[in-house]
Amino acid sequence: MPKPAIYWFRADLRLSDLPGLVAASNAGPVIPVYILDDQLGDEWKFGGATRWWLHHSLDRLNKDLMARDGKLILRRGETTATLATLMQETGATQIYASRQYQPWAQQSEHELKDLAQGRGGDFKRYPGTLIFEPEEIKTGGGTPFKVFTPFWRACLKGRDPSQPLPIPTLSFSESMPKSLELEELGLLPTRPNWAEGWETLWCPGEAGAEDALQAFLASHVSDYGEGRDFPAQPNTSRLSPHLKFGEISPRQIWAAAQHLKHAEPATAASVDKFLAEIGWREFCNHLVAQFPAMPDRAFNSKFDHFPWGDNEEYLSAWQQGMTGYPIVDAGMRELWQTGFMHNRVRMVVASFLTKHLLTHWRHGEEWFWDCLLDADLASNACSWQWVGGSGADASPYFRIFNPIAQGEKFDKTGEYTRKWVPEIAELPDKYLHKPWEAPALTLEAAGVALGETYPQPIVDHKAARETALIAYANLRAQFSE
Ligand SMILES: Cc1cc2nc3c(=O)[nH]c(=O)nc-3n(C[C@H](O)[C@H](O)[C@H](O)COP(=O)(O)OP(=O)(O)OC[C@H]3O[C@@H](n4cnc5c(N)ncnc54)[C@H](O)[C@@H]3O)c2cc1C
Repeated sequence: MPKPAIYWFRADLRLSDLPGLVAASNAGPVIPVYILDDQLGDEWKFGGATRWWLHHSLDRLNKDLMARDGKLILRRGETTATLATLMQETGATQIYASRQYQPWAQQSEHELKDLAQGRGGDFKRYPGTLIFEPEEIKTGGGTPFKVFTPFWRACLKGRDPSQPLPIPTLSFSESMPKSLELEELGLLPTRPNWAEGWETLWCPGEAGAEDALQAFLASHVSDYGEGRDFPAQPNTSRLSPHLKFGEISPRQIWAAAQHLKHAEPATAASVDKFLAEIGWREFCNHLVAQFPAMPDRAFNSKFDHFPWGDNEEYLSAWQQGMTGYPIVDAGMRELWQTGFMHNRVRMVVASFLTKHLLTHWRHGEEWFWDCLLDADLASNACSWQWVGGSGADASPYFRIFNPIAQGEKFDKTGEYTRKWVPEIAELPDKYLHKPWEAPALTLEAAGVALGETYPQPIVDHKAARETALIAYANLRAQFSE
């Protein structure tokens, strides 16, 4: 009887297209393990929203394993020590896992290699999180890409991604170690239960991910190219939390999208646009793998000297969706109430925080980290730096999103804004994105008392824009000397 092998689930909570699980199952009976390690990653331990998702995702994974006569072993604690204990308890000497790209992942993997080799086994790491590995995609000079377009071109020019793998036939160790009960991980909010009703909005787990992909490809991808910017339209996939937890692999998405393109060539342009967004996810992960300070420090170090303000009232108004700018407030409330925010609105609120309120992007990154169901170290850090102007391939600092114009353009009929900011829902479209310009009688007829039922704008758009541009011009002048 071969020794059992540990399969250590990380951000790959699925059974299909998992090369490491295939390898583990070929080696012998498997012990599937998940460890909640709140020390790993330090301040980047799971935020509140992702804990909610994790709870449900682990539950689904366990059920999928039980349907195959297995079980997910849950433990809590420092990863290396916990795996050492598990090896002792089970006699396993081999550990299998999918590769991760966070700055701390490599250190952890080195420790596990030493641990397993010290016991006559090995720690084996497989791809499964990205389509392209960071070592594969380099500039002609062998350096990492810092600009998306040539990066993605190089990805598309390289090897065709191989086909996804089916679920392997799994056999499980006869003597499974003890597991914590899922509830013992304490992942769900209790008092208050701010996630009430989320189970009607989301379906965590591998089957939920596959359903979301199929529904998107069947009904919405054909309008993705144009519709993806309009937050009231259901034209984006909402796959990001599933991808964050690895309930679906980008390779599976790639294969399904290619299949659709061949079956329905008219969808090709939209499908390619969608795959380019998956490309942004690859790009962000490659950047963080190669520039590990990205989540904490400005990629463009000039921005370390930017005169960020520290107005706590501004930050709090932004967090609560009480800035007086309806599209910004709609986004922040969508985030709080559902754990999600549409990409267009993420850009608007991020620009508002960093440029109108001159608040450091790290505050926004941290708030998103706690509130987003898809909070992902690489995508979050790179996107905040992109909007804030300090990132690789960043939006130029002088491009300041106008929250009024953005609302009028991307939520013209106000469907999105009215849903999340109901206290101004009765305003006519003309004033919905700038209630302060509405005549007194119009406000009264809509039941809006500015400063009472809905805030006055916390900053004046034009003045804030000017202040931001001056601060940026000063920074440029300081560093061009
Ligand atoms: C300030 C800010 C913070 C963000 N933080 C995160 C985050 O923590 N986690 C996260 O997954 N995305 C983040 N994004 C990127 C993007 O907003 C989300 O990925 C997207 O809104 C998810 O919705 P969707 O699945 O419907 O996307 P779709 O449009 O259907 O795109 C498909 C997939 O491509 C990836 N993707 C799309 N856009 C981007 C992007 N700009 N950068 C990286 N990957 C992308 C996601 O995995 C997404 O699920 C952030 C964007 C901004 C502006």
